[in-house]
Amino acid sequence: MKYQVDERGYYGNFGGAYIPEMLYPNVEELRSQYLQIIAQPEFQTEFNELLRAYVGRPTPLYHATRLSEKYNAAIYLKREDLCHTGAHKINNTIGQIILAKRLGKQKIIAETGAGQHGVATATVCALMGMECIVYMGKLDMERQRPNVERMRILGAQVIAAVSGNMTLKDATNEAMRHWINHPTDTHYIIGSVVGPHPYPHMVALFQSVISEEIKKQLQQAIGQPNPDYVIACVGGGSNAAGAFYHYLNEVHVNLVGVEAAGKGVDSGESAATTALGKPGVLHGSKTLLMQTTDGQVIEPYSISAGLDYPGIGPLHSHLFETGRVQFLNATDEEAMQAGIELARTEGIIPAIESAHALAALSKLELTAEDVVVVNLSGRGDKDLETYIRWGKY
Ligand SMILES: *Cc1c(COP(=O)(O)O)cnc(C)c1O
Repeated sequence: MKYQVDERGYYGNFGGAYIPEMLYPNVEELRSQYLQIIAQPEFQTEFNELLRAYVGRPTPLYHATRLSEKYNAAIYLKREDLCHTGAHKINNTIGQIILAKRLGKQKIIAETGAGQHGVATATVCALMGMECIVYMGKLDMERQRPNVERMRILGAQVIAAVSGNMTLKDATNEAMRHWINHPTDTHYIIGSVVGPHPYPHMVALFQSVISEEIKKQLQQAIGQPNPDYVIACVGGGSNAAGAFYHYLNEVHVNLVGVEAAGKGVDSGESAATTALGKPGVLHGSKTLLMQTTDGQVIEPYSISAGLDYPGIGPLHSHLFETGRVQFLNATDEEAMQAGIELARTEGIIPAIESAHALAALSKLELTAEDVVVVNLSGRGDKDLETYIRWGKY
């Protein structure tokens, strides 16, 4: 199997665990046990049963007929928007909390930018009766008020990070600091395929249920498991990693990652990491990230809070470098239009993150024979304010 993480935690030139020495025991405990715990039949039973009865899996693979007509190709939507809490993120938090329990942890910490991962974490903590602390930049707390209140309703404690720009990076620093100070009883749930090894691989494993299901569902729908294209948006890259996972070695399946171009790739306000990024260290791993010439992380921008991240996971940096995944980007405007288009043609209001993936449909040269799967990572309820402010519908 190509494109798998190696023993040192690298995907080609990217990955590893660039962490302060004081964090080493925590990360090493996880690294030395995660594969063995996940492989246990009891783990798999509990994980799969919760995915079924609590998350609502398998999520449908829906043949979007009117959208297909419009783009002259067979377009299928993988409906992660129908997961409990409205997005794919819960697949990962369910997996990690079961793992945390089996590691004997009683407390969970997480960091969140837009608040979606915080909500998914607070949800599984309530489910398991575990204490939950979520770090969030003070500015993000003001911008994402409903998600802050959701987390509080679910019983989580939300702590404002007041250093730096008071956004995601600062929340991450606070979470790491907390973990260093509480190594034995606490597990840190990271929300995407980012962070020090083993997080990128572990999160990809938990999300790989997406492509596992797509294969079975396509087999049923069209008599073969492989489409011509799989398209997914890329923030940190977890929904894309899940949608691509079981297709990485199927060379005839074109994999397309879509990043947020914000106000334009060259506008200075974007989150198009593969277009603009250089190798560096972010959130504990070596990966592509947007940075100044002297290595300072550039504050990203996207209309979609979930894609507003200055890097991508190391797996994606490797998939980009090797050319296995084609990376495109979509501007705010293109994504919003694609979101409205889905609402009008299929009666589904997508998350604005997912609308970026839909925006790629018009950028590919599709033919009538092509079978295309778009991973609809989340639903648009959380984005209603943004749709209203944008106004063009
Ligand atoms: C968080 C989020 C994303 C971006 O995160 P990835 O790790 O890149 O998947 C995409 N879509 C939705 C709906 C999200 O909530």
